[in-house]
Amino acid sequence: MKVTTDFVTGSGKGITQLDDAHFALQMRRDKYIYENYFHFRIEFEGYSDEAIIDIYPDQDYLPQSRRILASHFSPATLWHSPQGPFTTDVGSWRPVPGHLVEWRRDFIRLRTWLVEHPVEYVSSHHPLTAANWLKMLQERAAALPDLCSYHTIGSTPQGRPIGYLRIGTGARRVLIIASQHPIETPSSWAVRGIIDYLTSSLPQAQALLEEYCFECFAHVNPDGLDLGNPCFNASGVDLFLDFGGAAAGDFRSVEARLLWEHAVAGPLALVFNFHCYMGGYHHQDPPGEGIYMIPDFEEVFSPQAARSYRMINDHVIFSTDAFSSRYRPSELSADNLCYQLARQHDVPSVFYEFNGAFSGPYRNTRNGIRVFVAAMDGLAQAGG
Ligand SMILES: [Zn+2]
Repeated sequence: MKVTTDFVTGSGKGITQLDDAHFALQMRRDKYIYENYFHFRIEFEGYSDEAIIDIYPDQDYLPQSRRILASHFSPATLWHSPQGPFTTDVGSWRPVPGHLVEWRRDFIRLRTWLVEHPVEYVSSHHPLTAANWLKMLQERAAALPDLCSYHTIGSTPQGRPIGYLRIGTGARRVLIIASQHPIETPSSWAVRGIIDYLTSSLPQAQALLEEYCFECFAHVNPDGLDLGNPCFNASGVDLFLDFGGAAAGDFRSVEARLLWEHAVAGPLALVFNFHCYMGGYHHQDPPGEGIYMIPDFEEVFSPQAARSYRMINDHVIFSTDAFSSRYRPSELSADNLCYQLARQHDVPSVFYEFNGAFSGPYRNTRNGIRVFVAAMDGLAQAGG
């Protein structure tokens, strides 16, 4: 039996073999809170019903990491897949049966299940490789050339394209982005759900495509994703917080600059910025999804855009699981994309946090559709 993390999107700081079929894996933190997420691979050599993998928080940040493990990450569903990040199949990742996972004070103990496959990937957040998120978009463009097209806004410092799928012939642009934090791939699955909805036979979806043009980015931090980073891109930048200097063209990351320049190249009707939380909240009931809004937004937007912003977000709040983390929206600071698009260009937005602990890829797609439909209803009711 072998346990590894040195594959694309794998994460883990160290693996120790304690016995024939007993391993200890250490998780890797790059920024406070963005920790205790993991993605590793098990190669079975024949049947074993005794294998144990102990998953530890980053030992360099104790006792904080241990506290976070206990408070916001347990219990949570863990996910396994024989193909892991190397398939675009929504049904690939399955829950690890709960009786095989023990949540302990200092680590998570995972016992192996009856082995059906010679290789299994195990993850807290069911990711795909950057290339596979793009493949998902490219395949849709190839299958529906009259409706969709694939584009990029440029490449990351490590040469990975940042691609998007354009759907619809309408004049009004809507931007949908996911996974500024690379680990937050449940939000990328939500984009997949929206693409499926928009390319369905539903008349209401087709009506949207006549009025709008949707630019769907499945993952905007491909370097961080493939490197297995929880929070940062390859240069140690948190893309979520790299927009404070947008008005002056001042960015620390190539990815944020490309995204901003693309966003403001033409008028925008609405922006979706999708993130994800991976655990249970100790202070609220499941499913732990959340909505973030700009505090004092009446002072940031024009009066009309402020009314639209409130209407759109009220639709999301009252039609989806948000805000289950607290009974109010969390607050967006001035250094993120939504705030700066509001401040500089009067563009309303939806900032929604999906959950990867209570929802796998399938349910992430469902929840993505609910958030999208609610927000588009809100935009229509706000008078566009
Ligand atoms: Zn995030």
